[in-house]
Amino acid sequence: MDKPGRHFLQIPGPTNLPDRVLRAMDRPIPDHRGPEMPALVAEVREGLRAVFQTRTGEVILFPGSGTGAWEASIVNTLEPQDRVLAFDVGQFSRLYAECARRFGVEVDLVACRWGTGVPAEVVYDRLRADRQHTYRAVLVVHNETSTGVTSDVAGVRAAMDAAGHPALLLVDVVSSLGSIDFRFDEWKVDVALCGTQKGLMLPPGMAVLCVSPRALERSREVRSARYFFDWRPMLEENRRGYFPYTPATLLLYGLREALRMLLEEGLPNVFARHARLAEGVRRAARAWGLRILCEDPREYSNTLTAVVVPEGFDADRVLRVAEERLHLSLGTGLGELRGRVFRIGHLGWLNELEVLATVAGVELALHLVGIPVPLGVGVSACERFFADCLAERATAPSAT
Ligand code: PLP
Repeated sequence: MDKPGRHFLQIPGPTNLPDRVLRAMDRPIPDHRGPEMPALVAEVREGLRAVFQTRTGEVILFPGSGTGAWEASIVNTLEPQDRVLAFDVGQFSRLYAECARRFGVEVDLVACRWGTGVPAEVVYDRLRADRQHTYRAVLVVHNETSTGVTSDVAGVRAAMDAAGHPALLLVDVVSSLGSIDFRFDEWKVDVALCGTQKGLMLPPGMAVLCVSPRALERSREVRSARYFFDWRPMLEENRRGYFPYTPATLLLYGLREALRMLLEEGLPNVFARHARLAEGVRRAARAWGLRILCEDPREYSNTLTAVVVPEGFDADRVLRVAEERLHLSLGTGLGELRGRVFRIGHLGWLNELEVLATVAGVELALHLVGIPVPLGVGVSACERFFADCLAERATAPSAT
């Protein structure tokens, strides 16, 4: 039997879908080799260019997910025995490195404390010491979804430039694109890779990449075995508005609508909304007296918050109670964080009232598992913050 009321899907992706996106996908399956495709694919690729903030990058669309996008980024730019630099700042950074390893790439994985971001000074030191330029690429996860830490990609780029190193910069933007400022051109990123189910407000099902001219050139040189994720035929067909094999056609209609929505709201407003909602959640966590896993406030993620439960409590019990008693899904602790943290997702199609309800749900779940949190303190802190923001916006001079 369905539980009454709305299910609160507050995991850090997949996210809630806007009705407009759902309606755009509620249509007969089109002929993917038919005449409708070129205009659709062209608008999607152009919209994604705007969201990646690029003029020079080429957008490539695969059926798949974030993991497929990892694989595409690796097999098209690297070959066995190539050496790359990567940072173990969380579960997804570790898995991205593992993906490269499986293709025979030699990965120097720098151990970091989970809860911190990629240390730009270490990028500089490692690249500076690599006088023979043996590193082919630097792998960075922009927003580490297991810890709620956003790394400073601009800082990484500055370190690479300061070291005068020609390595490619490959960036996972799976849980940042369309929610947290990401600048493909300005930060001279070579490959940015994403799935559709987070900031792009779609169901899971596609892998989206943005690639630089340098990365394209490199993909023509590497001899790695690749087939499904070979981006050369995919890009050739995408440019004409088609695909070399069956694409996720209905998702393309949803993606076109989601991109229209993001661009209508305006990227700066989308980023500001996420920053505001995230700060509301952090105020609540502080009011509960619980630790936010991310150590440096400059690296706080605006798409999710990982909250540490006190010693002696199991974070997964909070999740179970939230799900079973309140119809609220939260993210579990991943890898070595299992049982120690729960994650609150606050990205995608979301507003203040939904965040307040989520905070109330978390507060109730904490209470029900016996974590000593006075009822109302988190909601109150979050609501106070939103009240101040709303009052400020009401008095701010209008931009138009
Ligand atoms: N990278 C990051 C940062 C993620 O958060 C995820 C999934 O949550 C992935 C990669 C893997 O993506 P997928 O589960 O879509 O394969």
